[in-house]
Amino acid sequence: MYNCVICRYHEIATKGNNRGMFERVLAENIRHQLRDLPGLLVRRVNGRVWIGREDRSPLIGEEIRAIRERLPRVCGLASFSFIVMTRVDIGEIRRAAQTLAPEIFAGKGEKPSFRIRARRSNKRFPMRSRDIEIDLVSRIAETPGVPDFVIDLDHADITLGVEVRDEFAALYTESLPGPGGLPTGSNPRVLTLLSGGIDSPVAAYLMMKRGSPTDYISFHSAPYTPPETTDKVIGIARHLNRYQISGKLYLVNLAEFQKEVRDRCEERFRTVLYRRAMMRIAEKIAAGHKCRALATGEALGQVASQTLVNLDVINRAVDMLILRPVIGEDKLDTIATAEKIGTMALSAPQVPDSCTVFAPASPATAAPLRQIEIQESLIPGYGALLEKIVAETETVIP
Ligand code: ATP
Ligand code: MG
Repeated sequence: MYNCVICRYHEIATKGNNRGMFERVLAENIRHQLRDLPGLLVRRVNGRVWIGREDRSPLIGEEIRAIRERLPRVCGLASFSFIVMTRVDIGEIRRAAQTLAPEIFAGKGEKPSFRIRARRSNKRFPMRSRDIEIDLVSRIAETPGVPDFVIDLDHADITLGVEVRDEFAALYTESLPGPGGLPTGSNPRVLTLLSGGIDSPVAAYLMMKRGSPTDYISFHSAPYTPPETTDKVIGIARHLNRYQISGKLYLVNLAEFQKEVRDRCEERFRTVLYRRAMMRIAEKIAAGHKCRALATGEALGQVASQTLVNLDVINRAVDMLILRPVIGEDKLDTIATAEKIGTMALSAPQVPDSCTVFAPASPATAAPLRQIEIQESLIPGYGALLEKIVAETETVIP
């Protein structure tokens, strides 16, 4: 009997002049999620986004299941509710409440606590909120199939919300959570350095949640890393794309550069040298594909390459902005996010990573920039080698 979904957002509401743009992007993302469900309209009306059919006919089971499963992936959405939308008419509101009642009490046990929360923004409607609540409660109590209940205005097991607006009235019981944040696409695109680890998929998601769609770049070292290394990253990128309209994956083979480093540079600096090359390659690919910044899953102090000094030295390899959304996170919180977004299971299998190819036994934790620059000068044609590697990039649409 639900015939509509109301979508709520918080942060967008504070955006003043840009509000229309944020709402448009949010509606576009919702439409994308529901693109295989014909006939459902996604509309912006009075500071809310609505999903429903033109004739307000009830949503069918398949539509309800799809909406429940997919709207929690739409960044920018604070919460959503399935509602029964009626005309602004007390007779219709009563009928809708009585039709809904047996279903909302089903499975809630004996003597559940119940309340009605009415709101009336339509001041021409003759009944006040309190009158609406009293009127509906007595009718619901008499409805066949509704058990005895107690009224509890503070902590009810079941709450029926009623909104009487200018254009229509709405009845609903649950408010389901969305991810919050800003709609993906309301900020420029970034390029996330995606490994098979736990942190970088979370970083990609957090960028989307702040409004930036993301492409991905992943480094492998074939034939020193197996095909599983890239298969794993493709799987992660495909999963992350469920949260945005599109994102490409660029696969880059770093092995040739790593061999040069192995043969010519001091062993303890290898990791930092790899990471600076990764940033430089990523910067070039980002610039060529309209990505305005790089993002990584680096967290301060987590491993040798992520000490403050090494991060600084890595940072100085490029001019482009590098964003590190999990820099200050506790690892357990990052894991909790990875679980929530469904990447944890994909990151869990242990597969060799490009960074661990020819990894030094004891990496430098504070590589001096001057030393690193000298090491880089020992690689003949450093710039040309990176250009060649960029030219051989493979693009995957996950
Ligand atoms: P993650 O869990 O994301 O792999 P990590 O804690 O294992 O992170 P590192 O392996 O040092 O840390 O990598 C730090 C960051 O550098 C990663 O979060 C990712 O953004 C980037 N990175 C590391 N290895 C690769 C790779 N092979 N391809 C692309 N990016 C990488
Ligand atoms: Mg890693």
